[in-house]
Order: sequence, then C-alpha cells, then structure tokens
Amino acid sequence: MLGRKIAVDLGTANVLVYVKGRGIVINEPSVVAISRHNNSIVAVGNDAKELQGRTPEAIEVVRPMRHGVVADYPTTEAMLRYFLGKTIGRLSLVRPEVAVCAPVGATEVERRAVREACEAAGARRPVHVIPEPLAAALGARLPVDLPQGNMVLDIGGGRAEAAVISFYGIVAAASIRVAGDRFDGAIASYVRRRHGVIISDRMAEEIKIAVGSAIPLEEELTCEVRGRDQATGLPRTVEITSTEICQVLQDPLEAIIAMLRSVFERTPPELISDIVDHGIVLVGGGALLRHLDYRITRETGVPCHVAENPMECVVLGAGIALDHMDLIRRALPEEEWVPAL
Ligand code: ADP
Ligand code: MG
Repeated sequence: MLGRKIAVDLGTANVLVYVKGRGIVINEPSVVAISRHNNSIVAVGNDAKELQGRTPEAIEVVRPMRHGVVADYPTTEAMLRYFLGKTIGRLSLVRPEVAVCAPVGATEVERRAVREACEAAGARRPVHVIPEPLAAALGARLPVDLPQGNMVLDIGGGRAEAAVISFYGIVAAASIRVAGDRFDGAIASYVRRRHGVIISDRMAEEIKIAVGSAIPLEEELTCEVRGRDQATGLPRTVEITSTEICQVLQDPLEAIIAMLRSVFERTPPELISDIVDHGIVLVGGGALLRHLDYRITRETGVPCHVAENPMECVVLGAGIALDHMDLIRRALPEEEWVPAL
C-alpha cells in the first residue's frame, strides 16, 4: 500500500477518483447535504443527490463546486475527505500522491484552493494540479507526447473549455462558464415561460438527457414533465418535445462554438493542419448531447467525434499524468500554467 497514486476529477457536477492499479473507484455527484443546525455533514455524493429538493428546512443540499472551481471551501474539503477516506481507508498512515485537475480558465488563487483542499483532505504535499484539457487529452489517448496539434473540447456542468495540446503543453485554450448547468437553467425557464409550469433544475436536466439535441431530430422525441402550475399552484403535467429543447439550447450552444472558434484563431498554422487531419475530440457529460459532434463538424468544418467514455477521460488522464509529471512540468511550469486565454 506504499506509494499509492490517486487521480481526482473534482467537477462541478461529478467527482471521480482513480487509483493506480485499481481503476476508477468513485464516480458520484459533487453534492453534499449539510445540517443547518450544527453544520455537520448529513450525506455526500449519490446519497446527497437523492435528498436534493426533498429535505426539510433543517437540511441544506449544496454543490460546493461552481464553474469548475471551489465555491465553498469547507464543504469541498469535507467532500474530498469523505471520498478519499472511502478510497484509501481511514487508517492509512502513508498519504497518497494525488493529481487533481483544474480548468485552464482557473486563476492562480482558484488553483491553490483546489490543491489546498486536497492536501487538507489527506493528500501528500504537494498535490499536482493538472490543466483539465491536458488530462482530458491524455485520457482520450491522444498522442500528446508528439509535437502535433491535438484538440479537445470539454463540456462539463459549469464550464466548457477547449484547448490545443502539443508535446505535453497547452498551446492555445479558451474557457467559458456556459455548460450543462446553463442548459438546464435555460430549459427550466423555458418550461415556466412557455408552459406556465415550474420545474426544478434537476428535472430540467432529465428533460435534456431524455429529448435534448444539438440539431432538430428527424423523428421528434417527447417526454412528460410534472411540475407546479404557476397560476393555480397545483400539479400539472406537460409534454415537451425535442424540437422545443433544441431551440432552447441554441444560445448556449452558440456561445460554446464561438469559444471553440476563438481557440483556432490563436493556434499556429502548423498545428491547425494536424487538427483538421485528426479532428476535435469531445469529452465531458455535455459531449453526450445528441448530434453535438455533427453540429460542431458542420459549423467548424473540422471533423469532431465523442471520446470513448467521455465522462471518464479527465480522471483517467490525470492518472496517466502522474507517471509523466517531469515532462508535463517541462512543458507547463507551475508558475506559467497555460498561455493567456
Ligand atoms: P463536471 O466535469 O463539471 O463535473 P461532467 O463532465 O461530469 O461535468 O458532466 C456533467 C454534465 O453533463 C451535466 O450537466 C449533465 O447534465 C450532462 N450530461 C450527462 N449526460 C448527458 C446526456 N446524455 N446528454 C446531455 N448532457 C448530459
Ligand atoms: Mg469535468
């Protein structure tokens, strides 16, 4: 059990933990239920998500990460302590070596917060902080060891990021606080505006997964949604179609595609040519939106495809990064992190 190496993907929506030699051991929502009475932790992860929207006043259900960075430090630390404890056991005397990811768009202060939260939760100092798109590219098995342009687009819960990676370094990148949560918010406000029914963001997420699409579907999908009628206050069921949701998702999708275009503008021509040859790889839960790869291919003229297991790439890549820290540090010295966004 000595020298254990662990990778953590501390996302806005989900936390994944990978242990070298064992694989992914934790994959749970980044949700914590806290007692308002004495601030004690009531539940973490799956158990906490079950409680969302269903608890009495005395219990608050929170998501301590926001836009890919730590929003509530004590709760993030408690959540990490719980997940690391579950991974290595409380009696572990040797602190594990940990790599954790942070968005390329994170500030130095935000990177420090994620590092310190891991260290406070039991990781060995110093924790390696790895830029998320680099981890995503490693996890998607792109040849980032070559001096060749590799492009990834990661759409998570709170943030979308795109980057071009070559020779273990980030050559160009961009980041935007528009991703899955924004899709859900847009759906919830649409259902209220158009149908007069109030639904939670969690139900909006279910609609997105059930019928969401980046382009209009030839065969329309529908789903039934139960919410509270805004006028009468009573329960009401409405039918929502994929055509409506596709329309609702236009604005946030366009913002993400504009962000992606801005990365091309900052990429050296030699690397652009590699990207056109090899395509853009989509990762993160947002990559699972129907026909998103097709839509991006159509709008950029560059072939785009979804990685295998897109929601696991970042943590798997951070695990791979643990074995290449010397090369990564050479390409991305800690103090320089990534080029200006
Ligand atoms: P993070 O890294 O921010 O924790 P993830 O990569 O885990 O985020 O992705 C979570 C996001 O992906 C959520 O907004 C979730 O609703 C969305 N998502 C998951 N599955 C799908 C799907 N099938 N279609 C569209 N969005 C999805
Ligand atoms: Mg992520």
